[in-house]
Amino acid sequence: MAKTQTKFVCQSCGYESPKWVGKCPDCGEWATLVEETVVVAKSPKRGEPSTSFAPAKRITELESTGASRTSCGIQEFDRALGGGVVAGSLVLVGGDPGIGKSTILIQVANNLSISSGNVLYVSGEESAEQIKLRSNRLGISSSDLLVAAETNIEAVEHYVRDSGPKHVFIDSIQAMYDPQLASAPGTVSQVRSCTNVLAHVAKNSGIPVFIVGHVTKEGALAGPRVLEHMVDTVLYFEGDRHQSYRILRAVKNRFGSTDEL
Ligand SMILES: [Zn+2]
Repeated sequence: MAKTQTKFVCQSCGYESPKWVGKCPDCGEWATLVEETVVVAKSPKRGEPSTSFAPAKRITELESTGASRTSCGIQEFDRALGGGVVAGSLVLVGGDPGIGKSTILIQVANNLSISSGNVLYVSGEESAEQIKLRSNRLGISSSDLLVAAETNIEAVEHYVRDSGPKHVFIDSIQAMYDPQLASAPGTVSQVRSCTNVLAHVAKNSGIPVFIVGHVTKEGALAGPRVLEHMVDTVLYFEGDRHQSYRILRAVKNRFGSTDEL
């Protein structure tokens, strides 16, 4: 039998407490603790141990990832990434809803599918028909761009194993859920668990994974510190939906300097 328990989780930093408190003792934010139900699954282990625990390697035998960067066909995007997409990297693309994250990312996905082969684009926010309509407007027609309307992160893992993509896009992380957790999609527990699964995909298979993260009214990503710590690179769109000029800014980059414009 799976056990059910509840805990209070800070929606800003992910701090967990058995009881509710008004001020998060970790990040100092007020009224950010939300009760979340946690189902402790019978077999919480994920993935094959044989692939999870690769033997340690001699440093002289390691390949430098610095060389393996792929251009995504949009100069501003390549520059923000520090010179292209790094193999096995987890990239968070943040910004207000409606600022055009999905529009630019599906163009990036299209470009990468043409230059590198299969790209898996998972949308938890739009139906396949809506994605098709938007793609038509943008003139996107690569047959190597695979689209799935899905919110279950275990199904996403299945799609990745099944289609062997060279790049993966998740739109958005707040729409995804891990069926092993009882919390609602978008809560810190869910965002953290789903990001963990995607980090696993990126690190074990070397597939770069882009995840869209919406910014809240307060101007932060949902579970901002949790997410930013878990990914390699954080890009932010700035500006508003009525401006044609949007700025893409790197606020974290494990593979290069930040604030490249
Ligand atoms: Zn906190």
